[in-house]
Amino acid sequence: MSANTRRDFLRTTTGAGVGAALGMVPVPLAGSPAVLLRNVTPVCIASSNGLAAVDRAMQELADGSYTIDAVVRGVNLVEEDPEDMSVGYGGLPNADGVVQLDSSLMHGPTRGAGAVACLEGVKRPSLVALDVMRYTDHHLLVGEGAQRFAASMGHPIEDILTDGARRAWVQWRAGLGSAGEYLTPAESGEPVRPFERPEGLDDELLDSFDGVRPHGTINCNIVDRNGDLSSVTTTSGLAFKIPGRVGDSPIIGAGMYCDNDVGAAGSTGRGEAVIKTCGAHTVIELMRQGTSPTDACLEALRRIVRWTVEDRLLTEAGRPAFDVNYYAVNKRGEYGAAAIYSGARFAVNVDGRSRLEDSAYLFQRTS
Ligand code: ASP
Repeated sequence: MSANTRRDFLRTTTGAGVGAALGMVPVPLAGSPAVLLRNVTPVCIASSNGLAAVDRAMQELADGSYTIDAVVRGVNLVEEDPEDMSVGYGGLPNADGVVQLDSSLMHGPTRGAGAVACLEGVKRPSLVALDVMRYTDHHLLVGEGAQRFAASMGHPIEDILTDGARRAWVQWRAGLGSAGEYLTPAESGEPVRPFERPEGLDDELLDSFDGVRPHGTINCNIVDRNGDLSSVTTTSGLAFKIPGRVGDSPIIGAGMYCDNDVGAAGSTGRGEAVIKTCGAHTVIELMRQGTSPTDACLEALRRIVRWTVEDRLLTEAGRPAFDVNYYAVNKRGEYGAAAIYSGARFAVNVDGRSRLEDSAYLFQRTS
């Protein structure tokens, strides 16, 4: 146990008073001093791509890891997976064909926080965020400085653009999947040149990027049997983004937040909407007032709906033309997730079993 954790443990034990000593489980959700809970059923909750991650995180916890190490080792599985094109190694690159990764994390018991943004050349950015938390006086390092720091901590700097991600980018660059700030020749009024298929580009890949800008991220939150919490989010962000664009994932309070008195929460989906509404922090503050995790996620999503006023971001029905997902667990081990639109799922491990569950939602998806 680190000095900080030990101090924290003593402070929380003292704060809990006689009730905790007797094994009672007080409800610490109304801004009360930190309280040590007992016999909370450990829970790990993640985005739907995190089934293996919640499994591993709970195994790590059972093996005695701190909650923060458990969730980081969980999401490392997804970061290392070249088949997941939304996170870490194999993530889709920016508009220049360069993979820039974002990650943030918080450790409840120590109130620790670390993050990296626009990090190039490192397969597992969450490990660098962990080093920012543990080995610096700062909370967020970006770009070249983040990479130099990563190298100084022994993280290999390597080419993390897989061939599949590169081919997807070539496809996008050719104009078949562009949307937003960069125009295709057709959109700019230029004559359209026939698309030359790069060697090895298969039909499935061609179809999957036709007109859609893929998103993807993993957020993972955990509570252990003492009610201690941690959260981590890691992503390659919006595919084919403007170089330097930073989403919600590395922003503490947006892409994830953890308050050891209350709970842990995080997001996936359109990062701009989450940043503008301080998403994960909003979920935590709602839970602090006693709102259940699912209802806190739904209410934070309603805020996004109210804040989405730009025509280009609205459907004909006047609803957001994008989705956002929130995932949350509170100190008592209650958990929930919600999305703007129906059909979303999340991964959870509770009672030793990992499974996907349906997220709550605001609107039925019509198409
Ligand atoms: N939230 C991420 C971002 O905006 C992307 C995603 O989760 O789909 O960078």
